[in-house]
Amino acid sequence: MIFIAGIQPKTEQYQSLQVKYCTRCHNDSQWILQKNQQFISLFFMPVVPFKTEYVYYCPICGNTEILDRETFESKIKREAVQLKH
Ligand SMILES: [Zn+2]
Repeated sequence: MIFIAGIQPKTEQYQSLQVKYCTRCHNDSQWILQKNQQFISLFFMPVVPFKTEYVYYCPICGNTEILDRETFESKIKREAVQLKH
């Protein structure tokens, strides 16, 4: 039997409903919350997540803050709408 294993990225994006000031481009805008996951895949199906990163970034200049999981999840519950799976 042959196993086909690989790595598959998965991204979820949310738009914050709160306006945040960016210290880099000096604009007020609704920042994007993004969850980046890497999965070990078998037969092209994602099976085991092995790396997850939570970022919060300015949609105008891309200035990025890294969030911890609790902060990210409370933000998407309280003040964000999902953009894509
Ligand atoms: Zn910016």
